[in-house]
Amino acid sequence: MSPRSEPLRIPVAELRRRPGNRATVERKVPVGGLGVGSASTPPDAEAQVVLHLESQSDGVTVQGEVRAPWTGECRRCLETTGGELTAEVTEVFSDHPDGAELLAFDGDAVDLSETVRDAVVLALPLAPLCRADCPGPEPGSFPVRIEGEPGGERFDPRWAALDELRFDRDPDEG
Ligand SMILES: [Zn+2]
Repeated sequence: MSPRSEPLRIPVAELRRRPGNRATVERKVPVGGLGVGSASTPPDAEAQVVLHLESQSDGVTVQGEVRAPWTGECRRCLETTGGELTAEVTEVFSDHPDGAELLAFDGDAVDLSETVRDAVVLALPLAPLCRADCPGPEPGSFPVRIEGEPGGERFDPRWAALDELRFDRDPDEG
């Protein structure tokens, strides 16, 4: 069992016996509570991670895909929405790390925890939509006031009808 704080520490000593060796690793890792503002991962969210590792003469390359659930507020109708995000990840762990492209590792295991968290945060939608053609808020929620009309202001009678519908709703709902 791997400790929960390092769910994506993958042993590579066996893989590294010969350059060109490949391995595929599938894991589920907790990614709850990532992101702020318009979208985030639910508290109990788990990411599905598939990683393809390849041994190089001086390190290990990792390529893979991350999928995780997200939830957020539709930017048009402001209702709660959500879905599944996907992100590609690529890392190169090297015996000669350069502090930028080439990551350091102890030679025996590679840790993708941070890579996966970063990928999930970057893939969260900045301006979520519940659906591509979301028409926006229910018209009755924002009655239009027409100033300067006789009587001061009035409401569109079609929206008044919608207001009545709302009063007919089951009081336990919402
Ligand atoms: Zn919407």
